[in-house]
Order: sequence, then C-alpha cells, then structure tokens
Amino acid sequence: MAGIAIERLVKRYGPTQVVHGIDLDIQDGEFVVFVGPSGCGKSTTLRMIAGLEEINDGTISIGGRVVNRLEPKERNIAMVFQNYAIYPHMSVAENIAFGLYTSGLDKAAKRKRVEEVAEVLGLTPLLERRPSALSGGQRQRVAIGRAMVRDPAVFLFDEPLSNLDAQLRAQMRLEIKRLHQRLGTTIVFVTHDQVEAMTLADRIVVMRDGHILQVGAPMELYEKP
Ligand code: ADP
Ligand code: ADP
Repeated sequence: MAGIAIERLVKRYGPTQVVHGIDLDIQDGEFVVFVGPSGCGKSTTLRMIAGLEEINDGTISIGGRVVNRLEPKERNIAMVFQNYAIYPHMSVAENIAFGLYTSGLDKAAKRKRVEEVAEVLGLTPLLERRPSALSGGQRQRVAIGRAMVRDPAVFLFDEPLSNLDAQLRAQMRLEIKRLHQRLGTTIVFVTHDQVEAMTLADRIVVMRDGHILQVGAPMELYEKP
C-alpha cells in the first residue's frame, strides 16, 4: 500500500496550462474522489499519477518515492478506464491472467492468483466465458480483476461507471466500495457524478479550471449552506 503526495503539479498542452500547480496529500489506504465539470483537469491529473502523461513541473510521489520519471509499470499502480479494455478473443480467466503477463510467476502461481481474484469479484463461475457472453457489469468486473491481479498499491479509476445504466452503476458503486473495504488499497477515482463522489469518497477533491477548489469529507462539502 502507499500514499500519494502531489506537489506544485503543473501540466501544459502547448501554451495552455490545464493543471495549475496543485498540491494534495493522499493517505495510504484512502479513497479519494476527484469531481468537477468536464475539462477541469481531473483526468489529466489522474493520468499524470499513472505515468501516462508527462509532468511539466512539480512532483508526484507514491509510497514516498518520486515517480515523475518512472514508467507506468514501475509505479505499482493499476488503472481502470471508462471503456474497459478487455480482449474479446480471450476468456475471463485469460483476460485476468493478462495482468500477470510480465509478472514472472509460473503457470501454477498465475492460475492460483487468477482464482483468488475471481473469487473476490464473484467471477469464479464465469472464468471460461468470453466477454461477449457477459453483462456490462461482469465485463467491468473483469477489467477490475485484470487491474487487481498484480496486487497494486494504488488503484486509479477514470470514470469507470459512466457507460453503465443507472441500476448497474449503483450496484458497481457498492462493489467498488466493498472492494476498497476488503483490500484497503489507496484509490483515486475520477467522476463528474456527485452521487458517486458522496457514496465512495473518504475525501472529495473539487477541481475547477485546473485548480483544487475544495478538499473535504463528503459531509463537510455538501452539508454547507
Ligand atoms: P476532465 O477530466 O476534468 O474532463 P481533462 O483533464 O480531460 O479534464 O482535460 C483538461 C483540459 O485539458 C481540457 O481543456 C482538455 O481540452 C485539455 N486536454 C486534455 N487532453 C489534451 C490533449 N491531449 N491535448 C490538448 N489538450 C488536452
Ligand atoms: P495456457 O494457454 O497457458 O495453457 P490458458 O490459455 O488456458 O493457459 O490460460 C491462460 C492463463 O489463464 C493461465 O496461465 C492461467 O493462469 C489462467 N487460467 C486459465 N483458465 C483458468 C481457470 N479456469 N482458473 C484460473 N485461471 C485460469
């Protein structure tokens, strides 16, 4: 597990600055949700934490180690996207096992780990299925499984529920919350949905125009007049 320290973080696209020197300390095991209108810089910030976007200034540390120049795979993080990228030609088990591709584990150890993750996510009866024979929620659980299987210190979620219908969204919200309670992993979750933020977050970070406007527990932020 690992906390995340963000200091004076800056991102520019060409001449346009889109993240304006933000500071934030995320505790080990904390569930932090970034909210704010479209275009305010949430996703860019998350992608910088993931190592998918170059940092122009400032630092990001994960577990006390500056990661500015580390490749995504060297950061001990896993990212789950809105359009869950699972492979249609692979079974559920193979999709999850794909997360272990570079792990160096032997076949038996991989299999054991895939089974553990499937158990946690309720995917055990579905291991041999193809994604085309799964519901949207089941597919999203496979994507989470592939991220989980490497036992990352940090989970990053970029609007993972936006493409699901309302009922499924509510169900997946609960599942992600339970997963956090069970694993205790640090989670950074980006959404524009205030209900998601309210139900999931230990702390909510409100962004506007590349700045952090407010940080607080859900009750602190939304019970104010
Ligand atoms: P959010 O996740 O809050 O919707 P983003 O972080 O995706 O916002 O985007 C922040 C700003 O950066 C927006 O103005 C967006 O248009 C701009 N932006 C994002 N990605 C790029 C890119 N690859 N090139 C240029 N501008 C970008
Ligand atoms: P291989 O082609 O290496 O014999 P498969 O294509 O059947 O193996 O599966 C690829 C990986 O998916 C395996 O390494 C294993 O870890 C995992 N896997 C496949 N089927 C299962 C299963 N039923 N339960 C757990 N893990 C599985």
